[in-house]
Amino acid sequence: MASDEFDIIRRYFQRPELAFAAPGVALGIGDDGALLRVGPGQELVMSMDLLQEGVHFLPETDPFLLGKRVLLVNLSDLAAMGAQPVCFTLALSLPHVDPLWLERFSAGLGVVASAHTCPLVGGDTTACHPERGALTVCIQVHGSVPQGAALLRSGAHEGDMIYVTGTLGDAAAGLMLLQGRAQAERATPAQRQALIEAFHLPESRVRAALRLRQLASAAIDISDGLASDLGHIARASGLGAVVNVDALPLSEAFRSLIPEQERLALALSGGDDYELCFTVPSDHTEMLEQQMREAGTPVACIGYIAAGQGVRWQRDGETLDLKVRGYNHFPTDSADSTGSQERR
Ligand code: ADP
Ligand code: MG
Repeated sequence: MASDEFDIIRRYFQRPELAFAAPGVALGIGDDGALLRVGPGQELVMSMDLLQEGVHFLPETDPFLLGKRVLLVNLSDLAAMGAQPVCFTLALSLPHVDPLWLERFSAGLGVVASAHTCPLVGGDTTACHPERGALTVCIQVHGSVPQGAALLRSGAHEGDMIYVTGTLGDAAAGLMLLQGRAQAERATPAQRQALIEAFHLPESRVRAALRLRQLASAAIDISDGLASDLGHIARASGLGAVVNVDALPLSEAFRSLIPEQERLALALSGGDDYELCFTVPSDHTEMLEQQMREAGTPVACIGYIAAGQGVRWQRDGETLDLKVRGYNHFPTDSADSTGSQERR
């Protein structure tokens, strides 16, 4: 990107609320690499997410919201590991240089970076072909966790209780509104705004996650829908899961907008919730619920881990025949493709 690559970095990404000094960072932007301090007895957690315009976000998305969202989505992976954010790196592939877009995008990043003491420490900036390449944002977050304390998908045991934070399906409903695929008049203007906000700005569960380290046996963040993501915990732990669908936390706004017969499918496979799903040994549930109250994080107990495999959905003790799947970028055949495939 010729000489203005460095200009872009200096002007937009070395801003003080974004590329600030932090305890885990010995050297940030400016050299061939960043230097991180990993304390004794700590493990470094890394996670990367790539977002492409037209696939992961709508082309007309406000860049300020996008900047906040891309970092929040990445921090959600750190939360799912029970990690404390340390810093992040940013790779940008730009079809054209739009100063207004860069200003708003980097300002949005800065708000979330400051709020989580997670500075930008490096990255890469390139131009892509304006017709053949889409705007692409790739973020890698780095976090730390005491050795052996990370929350893995594979840690669930038979009899553990299954919890989720927040409510499910709001972001998917918000995306339907943005794309004009919902009966908007079913919800009030305030409800519609809340759902759209849930899509743009997922709640950060980072602080709640630090309290889960001692209590949860397994965790994942719900990015592709509960059905898919709880399935990952079950598979990784070599067990099954039983979920009471009447215990699923659904917001008033979601219930207003989405007709009853569509609610379950959307809440289980809509994606983009970025809430945590985690398992807790049954003798820790009281302490867990107290800890989450103190953290101000709403949680709902939705089921339990059982012998077997896969997720069983139940209502009043009866197993339901639900065919729900999460979002899949690479469906192998038409049977794999749910309605959600066309949504993004
Ligand atoms: P190199 O050629 O050694 O890869 P670059 O010239 O690409 O380094 O980048 C110069 C410095 O700016 C490096 O410290 C790099 O990490 C940083 N940098 C490049 N792009 C970004 C970006 N989008 N955000 C933050 N830092 C960036
Ligand atoms: Mg480079």
